[in-house]
Amino acid sequence: MQGFNKYYPPDYDGEKHGSLNSYRGKHALGDRARKLDQGILITRFELPFNIWCGTCNNHIGMGVRYNAEKKKIGNYYSTPIFLFRCKCHLCDGWFEIQTDPKNTRYVVVSGARQKDEDWNPEENGGFAVHDTEGNTSAVDPLAALEKTTDAQNHQSKVQIPRLESLMDVSERYNSDPYSLSLKARKHFREDKKIWREKEKSDRKVKDRYALPASMSLAEEDEDSIREAKEQWQKGREEILSRESKRRKLAVETSIVPASSRSSSTTGSSAVVNSLCARVLGNTARRSQTTRPVSTVRKSLLRNR
Ligand SMILES: [Zn+2]
Repeated sequence: MQGFNKYYPPDYDGEKHGSLNSYRGKHALGDRARKLDQGILITRFELPFNIWCGTCNNHIGMGVRYNAEKKKIGNYYSTPIFLFRCKCHLCDGWFEIQTDPKNTRYVVVSGARQKDEDWNPEENGGFAVHDTEGNTSAVDPLAALEKTTDAQNHQSKVQIPRLESLMDVSERYNSDPYSLSLKARKHFREDKKIWREKEKSDRKVKDRYALPASMSLAEEDEDSIREAKEQWQKGREEILSRESKRRKLAVETSIVPASSRSSSTTGSSAVVNSLCARVLGNTARRSQTTRPVSTVRKSLLRNR
């Protein structure tokens, strides 16, 4: 019986016994320390995964708790490795599970089978999270040398120059922010002045020709000016030629005595003559009293 209370029996001597536990010949951990001389402490151990008991072949779920015998069996560097020996609650068999500090997990040592439920990324088309096996293939010294030489070449020929140029650029942009900002603002101010002027002239043009304010006018440079001039010339010539043609036709169809016309109009003289005759005929019909019809007809025939 552990000394839970503070009852000190009459024959208890503090000097001699030290503590109530030692007076009663008990360990402070009580019954759990009954195998302490073998290095075994009995602790409550909860199954970290599903297992099948090796003796009765029953499935035992994760989280079932046992009074396990905990024993230190070794070290991984400075981390102790503990073994937990549990008695199956469904049969008389025992199974052992130990810690695996290297891979931060538990492994079944004997007496049971672990249900493999670990997610294997490689099996499912992913990449291994960490490689605990290490590179098992033999190292080819020549290949390794080639690899390191390549890496060195790449570093000296590509990476270092690139880094240097990047640093140069960074240096240039960050060396004197004040003057750079000054320059940028000055430039912007000049640009703004030009924009303002252009906007003003554009507005004037738009006002003059009643163009919509949202319309953007073309940039005025030598090329565009020349192009516009050419277009204007072309249009002007077209109009002029049309005008002259019209005038010519009007002149040709107008009633003018043949004698006053220039002799160059030989091509259209037949048309002009017929027209002339018709007009003359009309005149003749109106003034039949002064001129016989037969003479008019005769003149018409003559004209044709
Ligand atoms: Zn069992």
